[in-house]
Amino acid sequence: MNQQPPIEKTSELEGVEASGAARASVLFPLPLDKPYDYACEGEPPPPGSFVKAPFGPREVAGVIWPSEGEPPSLDKLKKLGEIFETPALAPDLIAFIDWAAAYTMFPKGALLRMVMRVSDALDGPRMQTAFAKTHEPQGLRMTAQRKAVLAAAGPEPKSAIDLAASAGVSDAVVRGLAEAGALARVEVDPDPPFVPPDLSRDGPALSDDQQFAAETIGAIIAEGGHKAVLIDGVTGSGKTEVYFEAVAAALKKDGQAQALILLPEIALTLPFLKRVEERFGAAPAPWHSDLTAAQRRRTWRRVAEGQARLVVGARSALFLPFPKLQLIVVDEEHDGAYKQEEGVIYHARDMAVARGSLAGFPVVLASATPSLETVVNVDEGRYEAVGLASRFADAAMPDIRLIDMREYAPEAGKWLSPSLVAAVNHNLSVGEQSLLFLNRRGYAPLTLCRRCGHRMTAPGSDSMLVEHRFENRLVCHHTGFSMPKPSACPACNAVDALTPCGPGVERVAEEARERWPKARIAVLSSDTAPGPSSMREVLDAMKAGVIDILIATQVAAKGHHFPELTLVGVVDADLGLAGGDLRAAERTYQLLSQVTGRAGRAEKPGRALLQTYQPQAPVLAALASGDRDAFLAAEAMGRRDLGFPPYGRLAALTLRSLDEKALEQTANALKAAAPPADGVEVLGPARAPIYRLRGVARMRLLVKTRRNVHIQAYLSDWLKAVKIPGPVRLVIDINPYSFL
Ligand code: ADP
Repeated sequence: MNQQPPIEKTSELEGVEASGAARASVLFPLPLDKPYDYACEGEPPPPGSFVKAPFGPREVAGVIWPSEGEPPSLDKLKKLGEIFETPALAPDLIAFIDWAAAYTMFPKGALLRMVMRVSDALDGPRMQTAFAKTHEPQGLRMTAQRKAVLAAAGPEPKSAIDLAASAGVSDAVVRGLAEAGALARVEVDPDPPFVPPDLSRDGPALSDDQQFAAETIGAIIAEGGHKAVLIDGVTGSGKTEVYFEAVAAALKKDGQAQALILLPEIALTLPFLKRVEERFGAAPAPWHSDLTAAQRRRTWRRVAEGQARLVVGARSALFLPFPKLQLIVVDEEHDGAYKQEEGVIYHARDMAVARGSLAGFPVVLASATPSLETVVNVDEGRYEAVGLASRFADAAMPDIRLIDMREYAPEAGKWLSPSLVAAVNHNLSVGEQSLLFLNRRGYAPLTLCRRCGHRMTAPGSDSMLVEHRFENRLVCHHTGFSMPKPSACPACNAVDALTPCGPGVERVAEEARERWPKARIAVLSSDTAPGPSSMREVLDAMKAGVIDILIATQVAAKGHHFPELTLVGVVDADLGLAGGDLRAAERTYQLLSQVTGRAGRAEKPGRALLQTYQPQAPVLAALASGDRDAFLAAEAMGRRDLGFPPYGRLAALTLRSLDEKALEQTANALKAAAPPADGVEVLGPARAPIYRLRGVARMRLLVKTRRNVHIQAYLSDWLKAVKIPGPVRLVIDINPYSFL
């Protein structure tokens, strides 16, 4: 990663003029790359302070930022407005925002917006009246209703609504008791503080491997300063217990220190919050997109005050206003969900390491299948690594076999080969659970006309419509467009000629229900179980053993423990390999080893069967032999030969427009303006693989450079020389993960 020079601390008095007025620069949470200058009386508030300042017709909330450029003449400046009481952003967060803006090539204000997402958090506490029990006054007239309220009340203040609800009365009764002096009115903050983690609690006794790993990380924390360290160990080897020790060590070291654990999926956070609570005797502050506005506000404010010491969150938690962040853990560091593709495009794992490096604290990465980027960073000595060799308590690794589908083909119109069917039969007969994994939602990924060959696509889009039979609709997974399945082909009008091609989970479920009518079968994908809570129900049912066969997409692959699951059948192990994206094999390896790792976690050994038409593919051979290091070495060699990340740098420049002509002209003009430079190749322009989505056409240029090239500097020189016309939009993605 390219380090920007560290920002210099400005002297607090710099810019103060003889008149007593001073320059204060304010960065707004808007797509602006620079702070704006204002005049203020006396010393300017320190950088990081939340303020209001006139911007256009309104006053807008922003943050005092280190000034840039020549000091302006103060008498021409507008006056700084109100200063909020919210604690100022820490200097390391300001440095991080500046760095991240330069790295991602998004405006600083767009990054600041991610910090300021909670719109009412700056308003401070809005105190609410609550009621607590006092001594019962003499001569109080008692009624059944009053008795019920007094029984529900306690020394902890509760709101009138809560008290009334638990007593089953109206809140007038509560207020009446307060008038009579039987309840005390107390002003309380509606964002209650978080219970601090109990650091005196011990975790479980660690195995030798775990102990060694925990001590190594403990020594890094004790020493202070930045270091990235990878905990590398198979699923179930006890990585989580090891990084809990690291969290405890970091929080113990300094009474004000805060720690953040990042997880890739919201669906994982709920059980994880419980696990943290068991370990530390207190639930951590949560941060993810499923929180209510009140929960977000509470976490944001309590983090800003330094009161919330442990946060568990999704990638955007990196932008919470921690005053004293001292440790970040990135669990499942290889997970693609860490890459944010909308708005500001960033990779949360890389950003976490950058944040730690700017602020000088350690960052712990954990994975059973670390990304090639991280493995290379370890090999080249930039990151440290600690390994956990086996599953905790020596639970056996699953036995993984390939099924060559060219030899053992299923019957026509079916998707499960005889060997997989026999394995499921066996599991049903001994009462053990099976998981059939297919990473494809819906019934069939393609709907084709048997008469004319027409493929069903969404209007104005080139993406295939996926049949969802349960809802009887055709759905575009890229835009969300959906329509009822037509009875006639829209191209040739042939009736009943539209044919589903290939399987999705719903189609495999149809086959499973036909084959095993008595089995308890459930389907799990993001659309069969919309929302984390209904997904939880299926996952809990699976855990409780009331499902015999679960047919699922990757939502079941991550982090769950199913004690009775002993067979994983991968319906199409080749699925992720097509598409020609540079990380296709790596992702397939990660996903399939994660899925197959679901089998046989406890005492029962498990097995995994992978259906494939290309058993000779190195990634599948590596999965079957369990030789991860050989696979990674081959992957690394391939990427090095091609100069792809992590051995070179990549940036994708995507142009989007409704106007295809303007799009093509701009793409060609952009290419023509690319300055020749040593170690830089500009590929394209080419149409994106899915060229049109909702009528918007997209073209791509790919910039590939040697690792020692400052790719952002190259891009900004280039883009300065080009004017992108109004109807075309340019989006830059540094180190792209998606090539669609
Ligand atoms: P990973 O994070 O590597 O997948 P976990 O930390 O979740 O592994 O550990 C897998 C299981 O083993 C969990 O149920 C965990 O509670 C248990 N476990 C791990 N280490 C210990 C230990 N030292 N003592 C008791 N149980 C442990």
